[in-house]
Amino acid sequence: MKIAVVGTGYVGLVLGACLAESGNDVVCVDKDAAKVRMLRRGKVPIYEPGLEELVKRNKTEGRLVFTTELPKAVRASTVVFIAVGTPQGEDGSADLRHVLGVAGQIAKAMNGYKVVVNKSTVPVGTAERVREVIRRETTHPFSVVSNPEFLKQGAAVDDFMKPDRVVIGAEDPRAAELMVSLHKPFTRTGAPIMVMDCASAELSKYAANAFLATKISFMNEIANVCDLFGADVDRVRQAMGSDRRIGSSFLFPGVGYGGSCFPKDVKAIAKFSADKKYDFKILKAVDAVNELQKRVLVKKIETHFGNLKGKTIAVWGLAFKPKTDDMREAPSVPIIEALLAKGAKVQAYDPEAAKTARGIFGSRVMFAARNYDALKGADALAVITEWQEFREPDFARIKKLLRAPVVFDGRNIYQPEQMKAQGFTYHSIGR
Ligand code: NAD
Repeated sequence: MKIAVVGTGYVGLVLGACLAESGNDVVCVDKDAAKVRMLRRGKVPIYEPGLEELVKRNKTEGRLVFTTELPKAVRASTVVFIAVGTPQGEDGSADLRHVLGVAGQIAKAMNGYKVVVNKSTVPVGTAERVREVIRRETTHPFSVVSNPEFLKQGAAVDDFMKPDRVVIGAEDPRAAELMVSLHKPFTRTGAPIMVMDCASAELSKYAANAFLATKISFMNEIANVCDLFGADVDRVRQAMGSDRRIGSSFLFPGVGYGGSCFPKDVKAIAKFSADKKYDFKILKAVDAVNELQKRVLVKKIETHFGNLKGKTIAVWGLAFKPKTDDMREAPSVPIIEALLAKGAKVQAYDPEAAKTARGIFGSRVMFAARNYDALKGADALAVITEWQEFREPDFARIKKLLRAPVVFDGRNIYQPEQMKAQGFTYHSIGR
């Protein structure tokens, strides 16, 4: 199939590369000329495991090309995906400027029947708005499809190749059939392809993200209550999770959720519900709890030291989660800002996100090239992102490098008994 993908970010680039991998001819479009130049050289501008190999291979084999010229890409394709950003607007709603702008550009370039697919996360009713924009600009036939993306950054290629489910919102049977056949190669293990109306497809994405965020905020509150009563959230989590109605995944407390999706999607669903005079109380609380949770670790650090003036805190992990270089809404940002505001110095290390973090903090934070370098002369270590390489460190070395053996574990990756046995003063979340 001839496919165009507009937007080569975390979603668009993975989508384009995976569709090329299954044999389609894909042209990826981005307005960012520097990004396109880089991609043409086979370089991937983001860190996403397995993506660069996929891009290189399909580029070399001629199935994946990159351009800034949207009209040419549209004319050469039958299916056109919109995978541009839908950032949070000032009032919490999703900003649809990019999506609707691209829809207009696609319409102007049409030269025959096109299936225009909304891959971006968009509020209910957006398919209809995209349809209206296109209708105004062209007399060519077209169908609009909602095909929300459920991939996780850090495992995006794997998630796309082996999805739990594919959701297709399509009112037109011809477009639905085309989308089903496009996704068949990725669902051979039996993952369902669910065809539904556009509104339900659009809401499915928000409902899934909002529910996951709810799980996180719920567990963070359980952890805070554990702290008050001396209970162990690991025990509570295991006891809860072994109930099959609950399940054991996504029950890990920490320093709050971040990233480019959960924070904005929780706010957006609350906003578009409010626009229909519905007060989504749970999600307002989920958001508020998350804001508070970002302060829990700093409070523990402050309580331990009394005063942070002149103290140096080593920070392991800056990205909003492991296996990504993405710093969007990363909890590390408010945590480090709070430490700096209280007079502490910060020495940080992250395997992939340091470059982006440098753009945020500049010279206010010392960035170490290796994990242990961040510890030299620090008064304590704070773990903020649970990268695999932090899970089994050389504790004797950590003790030697720190001024005092104090660890604040914002992700509960170490065991309290073991830390105590090794002579650490150890603080974690809800244990
Ligand atoms: P991103 O910011 O990484 O990428 C967006 C890309 O679109 C950028 O490269 C930008 O230059 C390009 N772009 C913007 N306007 C354009 C235009 N007019 N023409 C051509 N290119 C244009 O965003 P992302 O993280 O890939 O997210 C895209 C969408 O997918 C969002 O709606 C997001 O909510 C959703 N989503 C994201 C994830 C995720 O994990 N990141 C997962 C599922 C869904």
